[in-house]
Amino acid sequence: MLISLHKVVHLHYTLTNEEGDVLDSSRGDEPLAYIHGMGNIISGLEEALTGRRVGDRFQVSVPPEEAYGVRDDELVQIVPKSSFEGVKEVLPGMQFRAESADGMQLVTVLDVAGDSVTLDGNHPMAGMTLNFDVEVTEIRDATPAELEHGHVHGPGGHRHH
Ligand code: ZN
Repeated sequence: MLISLHKVVHLHYTLTNEEGDVLDSSRGDEPLAYIHGMGNIISGLEEALTGRRVGDRFQVSVPPEEAYGVRDDELVQIVPKSSFEGVKEVLPGMQFRAESADGMQLVTVLDVAGDSVTLDGNHPMAGMTLNFDVEVTEIRDATPAELEHGHVHGPGGHRHH
């Protein structure tokens, strides 16, 4: 069976940045499971998986445009510390969920100076070329319920029912 539209794919991956630092890996854990062709994973990785079979192992380098996008400087803004109601101490590196015009957005604190907090609304991996080492471990057809929900049920997927 080859990877194509609406197959459930299980894979092991190790993600490194351009410096070779490991950012994330499924090794030592259960494989990642996703439904092919539904935007569950970044487009550059999904594209590289099309047509692969169980046992295939390969490397792919995904540019920002096909991963988490290029950085947008307009998403960096300075807000007063008073907007962090109920937060004891605001420190660089902290992440918060904030409401924006586009719905909930994850923001990262870049800097704190006096009463001013610099926030970055870019995805933490925006602007990064991501290198994946991938091994396909299982391919099967998605069930009707999985296609309806848009995600995998069972091992490696959602466990909400
Ligand atoms: Zn579900």
